[in-house]
Amino acid sequence: MKKVSIIIPAYNEEDSLNLLYERLKKLMDNNSNYEFEILFINDGSKDKTLEIIKELRKKDKRICYVDFSRNFGKEVAMIAGLDYATGDCAIFMDADLQDPPELVPELLKYWEEGYDDVYARRTSRKGETFLKKFTSKMYYKVLQKLTNVEIQKDTGDFRLLDKRCINALRKMRETQRCSKSMFSWIGYKKKEVPFVRDPRIAGQTKWNYKKLIDLAIDGITSFTTSPLRISTYISIPTFLALIIYFIYVVIKSFVINMPIQAYQAIILLVLFFSGIQILLFGIVGEYLGRIFNETKNRPLYLVNEYNGERENNDIK
Ligand code: UDP
Ligand code: MG
Repeated sequence: MKKVSIIIPAYNEEDSLNLLYERLKKLMDNNSNYEFEILFINDGSKDKTLEIIKELRKKDKRICYVDFSRNFGKEVAMIAGLDYATGDCAIFMDADLQDPPELVPELLKYWEEGYDDVYARRTSRKGETFLKKFTSKMYYKVLQKLTNVEIQKDTGDFRLLDKRCINALRKMRETQRCSKSMFSWIGYKKKEVPFVRDPRIAGQTKWNYKKLIDLAIDGITSFTTSPLRISTYISIPTFLALIIYFIYVVIKSFVINMPIQAYQAIILLVLFFSGIQILLFGIVGEYLGRIFNETKNRPLYLVNEYNGERENNDIK
C-alpha cells in the first residue's frame, strides 16, 4: 500500500484544527486504499495548537507532529515537513482549510498517472482583498521577467510531490527559502489542477504586508542574481552620454573653434568617473552573484530517469 504524507505547517491555529481533522478523517476513510500520515509542523505556536495536536494523536496514530522550538516561518516548516515525512508522496496543506482536503483524491489520481508534482492552481480567491490579489499578480509578473525558470501562476503551496521531488528538495538547504521558485527549479513532470480557494475557516491570517514584502524580496533575491546586474546596465547609458557629450564638446571647440568652458569639462569628468564607479560596482556584483550561487550548494542537476548499470538510490 502506498503511503501519503500530508504536511501541515501550523502557527496559532487552535480554532481550525478540529475542523481540519474532521475533513481529513473523511478523506482518509474514503481513500482506504492508501496509508496516510498527517504530519503537523507546530511552528512555535503560542496558543493551544500543540495540545490539540497531541489530543488528536491520542485518538488517531496517523497523526504525527514536529514541534519547533520557536517560530521559524512557514518556509522552514515546509522543509522540516519534507525531512520528517515518510510517505511515497507528500502533500502540503494549510491548517486553515483554505486548501480543501476534498481535492486530494484528484491530486492522487494524477500522481498515479505518473506526474511528479501535481499543484493546485486557484481559479478564484474568496475573502481576499483586491490589493492582495493585485500585488500577488504583479509579483508573479516581475519574478517571471527576472528569471529563466518558468514560474507557475496563482499557485500556493498546496501540491503533491512525488518521492523524488521530496529527495530533490531535501538537498536544497539554503536558509533564505522561497519554495515557489524551488518547485519550479527542480523540474520533473508537473500537472496543474484548478480549484477554488476558500476563505480561512477560523483565526487570523499570519501574513501582513511586511511579511509579504519580505517574502517577495527573498523570492527575487534567492531565485536570481539579476538585480546585481542593474549596476552594469546603468553604466551603459552613462558611458553613452559621456561619449555623445564628448563628441559634441570636441566638435564645438575644434570645428567651430569655440573655447571649452569649465562647466563642460566638469560634466565630462562627472560622467566619466560616475560611469567607472557604476561599472566597478557591477563587476563586484557579478562576483558576488557567483559566490552567492555557489554558497547555496544546490545539486547541479536532478535526474529524471537513468538506464544503465550503476546503482543509484536517488532515482525513485
Ligand atoms: N504558518 C506557519 N508559520 C508562520 C506563518 C504561517 O506555519 O510563521 C502556517 C499557518 O499556520 C497556515 C499556513 O502557514 O497553516 C498559511 O498561513 P496563512 O493562512 O496565515 O497565510 P495565507 O493563507 O493568508 O496566505
Ligand atoms: Mg490561509
